Amino acid sequence: MHNKTLAEIARDLEAKNYSSVEVTQHFLDRIKNLDAKFNSFITVTADHALAQAQAADAARAEGKAGPLTGVPIAQKDIFCTQGIKTSCGSKMLDNFISPYDATVVKKFNNAGCVMLGKTNMDEFAMGSSNENSFYGPVVNPWQENTVPGGSSGGSAAAVAARLTPGATGTDTGGSIRQPAALCGITGLKPTYGRVSRYGMVAFASSLDQGGPMTQTAEDAALMLNVMAGFDERDSTSLDVDTPDFTATLNKDLKGMTIGLPKEFFDERLSPEMAKQIDAVKNELTKLGINFKEISLQATALSIPAYYIIAPAECSSNLSRFDGVRFGHRCENPKSLKDLYERSRAEGFGTEVKRRIMIGTYALSAGYYDAYYLKALKIRRLIHNDFENAFTEVDAILGPTTPTPAFKIGEKSDDPISLYLSDIYTTAVNLAGLPGISIPCGQINNLPVGCQLIGPRLQEARLLNIAHQLQQHTDWHKQAPQIEAN
Ligand code: GLN
Repeated sequence: MHNKTLAEIARDLEAKNYSSVEVTQHFLDRIKNLDAKFNSFITVTADHALAQAQAADAARAEGKAGPLTGVPIAQKDIFCTQGIKTSCGSKMLDNFISPYDATVVKKFNNAGCVMLGKTNMDEFAMGSSNENSFYGPVVNPWQENTVPGGSSGGSAAAVAARLTPGATGTDTGGSIRQPAALCGITGLKPTYGRVSRYGMVAFASSLDQGGPMTQTAEDAALMLNVMAGFDERDSTSLDVDTPDFTATLNKDLKGMTIGLPKEFFDERLSPEMAKQIDAVKNELTKLGINFKEISLQATALSIPAYYIIAPAECSSNLSRFDGVRFGHRCENPKSLKDLYERSRAEGFGTEVKRRIMIGTYALSAGYYDAYYLKALKIRRLIHNDFENAFTEVDAILGPTTPTPAFKIGEKSDDPISLYLSDIYTTAVNLAGLPGISIPCGQINNLPVGCQLIGPRLQEARLLNIAHQLQQHTDWHKQAPQIEAN
């Protein structure tokens, strides 16, 4: 049962092959038996899940079921869940019980989905390996000494290990696509503003975007149908129509043109990775797609620009965690200053502190123009590069990451080398565009992914291409070998 996709489970529930309570119990048992090894969940909400499953079965019996009623999913622990701990992977919020649901959570509840639990993540979504979590690293189910990627590493590992058929993630600079690639699953970062950020703990507000992490593109479309939509509680939410993302999955691809940025395929790309992308290109060519070389010159500057803008925004967003209003408070504060200083010193981990310091520095008088303003100008150039490219091509193809999963501990003392694992993903956030990572084979028995990038609001086009590719290949069906213990 656990190898089934969301779409298959939805069909089985509709056909009454089993109940929501049965499928929910099955996944809860799997989490219980296997997750000690992977650490992909911070909180498992078994009672809550079974109550939701019962309600879903009752709704179905009354003929009130929607497309995903009774289907289990997991939520990244960055989304606020009423009455349930929302830690954001941090000691700072270890004791935080949210008084309200994030819009995304509310939408899944309204759709009748069952929440199995909250998944592990890098603290405040800062990281690319899930080693920055207060709750310990997540293990990649493909190889136990490797990382699952980050920051949505818990969600990616849980889907790969078939502990849940789907999970939410958030992507500020690659955190849906990079772990999806490293765990051999499908991950979609929607257009900035497509999915509400209300109740999603803020890291870098102009970049953060929630999205689905699933086995297939079809499942990503099903989840995005639930997640997307205007929200008046998020001032950056886009007031645009939400299409049915499943409606165009089977559209003919003939005559479409995909761009290959020469900056993604230069000497820095390993021959092994180039070979996997070539295989994708061959399959897409068979489906009638044409390819064209393009240039995205400014993307070379995306990592430096991102590592000014994201820390700048985080230093401001995280100032609210002061020991007064939320989360961790130090013992016996001697003064207000002592309360702030010790609560923050004790509550935040090393990487979060590093980002707050860099961000505060970049925004301070005298440095603002040199760093922050400069980074914003580069951001505009990156945006313009994509805009020009999309006058010639319908989508862009490249690798999601430079390498497959690396070893736990391998990069933890070298933040810069860790930052470089997002070299192909951060530009997409800086430009606010949609991007999807889909599995495209293995290198040394570890999965790798390719990334399709689309023009603003063209998620449906990316899902169409990815779904067609998945209809003709089986890279997305490969799963890690996991023995139950
Ligand atoms: N790895 C990047 C970072 O550390 C991106 C994180 C994310 O997308 N949340 O900032």
